Amino acid sequence: MKYLSDLAKSLQPYVPGEQPKEKTYIKLNTNENPYPPSPRVIQALRDTDAAALRLYPPPESDELRECIGKFYGVDKSMVYPANGSDELLAWCFPAFFVGAPLVINDITYSFYQVYAKLFSVQTQIVPLNEDFSIPVEAYLGMDKNMIIANPNAPTGQILSLIEIERIVRSNPDRVVLIDEAYIDFGGESAIPLTARYENLLIVQTLSKSRCLAGLRCGFAVGSPVLIEGLARIKNSFNSYTMDTIALKLAKAAIEDKEYFLDTVNKVKATRAWVSAELRKLGFRFADSYANFLFVTHPNMEASVLFEQLRRQGILVRYFNLPRIQNHLRITVGTDEEMKQLINKLKEILP
Ligand code: PMP
Repeated sequence: MKYLSDLAKSLQPYVPGEQPKEKTYIKLNTNENPYPPSPRVIQALRDTDAAALRLYPPPESDELRECIGKFYGVDKSMVYPANGSDELLAWCFPAFFVGAPLVINDITYSFYQVYAKLFSVQTQIVPLNEDFSIPVEAYLGMDKNMIIANPNAPTGQILSLIEIERIVRSNPDRVVLIDEAYIDFGGESAIPLTARYENLLIVQTLSKSRCLAGLRCGFAVGSPVLIEGLARIKNSFNSYTMDTIALKLAKAAIEDKEYFLDTVNKVKATRAWVSAELRKLGFRFADSYANFLFVTHPNMEASVLFEQLRRQGILVRYFNLPRIQNHLRITVGTDEEMKQLINKLKEILP
């Protein structure tokens, strides 16, 4: 540790779900999409001219911004892509959050706290309701910067567009960041509100609904002033953050709307029947609006269930954290994978 700065020593880095190499698991632990990327993405990769990698990529990612803007009906000056939404979330700290308290809720994506520590931003915690729903009233008129994951992770619960708008409108002098990593699986995006609320920033990812976790591409949508803030940070850190291949493949994915809607609908259909099956087995959980289920069972500890599933070749996510240590987060896979999950659970449960 002697070479590390005090800052580096003080950090508590994010621990991602495991990506095992030693054995083939049914992987239901990191909310990846079980389907391959669009055939257009695969074709775009085949068509890639490797010789062009000699050149730096366009630093402001214009074509991709235009393409995303077209998809969502906003000007390209309101769009900013990056290497995964994690990178955008990180930029938001020096761009908007440093120097003031940041509101997050107690059960949410744990990377927010990691960045808060890295950038010495003090967090103010709003506890979720008993049933893990988001207490909208608590956010009204706070006059604080805030991040809300919608749908929330790992709970899968959602706020309506009307509720988001109330929160955004009642905190006009602060940045309200809505992390929509999972929005395509059941919610209504707040992107249309960005035309009316300068303080609203939406962050989305291609990792989940567009089957491209390995590509590392996310994007922000917000008012040009907020986008300018992100650009200032990016260009103070790494001006060529997105590589030539990722830019091209991301564009191909966004352009294939039909495949995107198809895959999302398949995941939603699987989620519906697997939810019913899990309830028949005694699991308790709120309806999920994401590509995962956040479940608990009255007759078996979540940690034990996690280990038993692992031994049987099925990986799910267990968080040993207050309020949720008796829950498992299970990613919705293919029908076949979920059938195997249900069969194993029938064997394991008392
Ligand atoms: N936000 C939430 C709520 C997430 O669960 C994730 C995935 N771990 C991310 C953002 C980051 O996704 P990515 O960096 O792959 O875009």
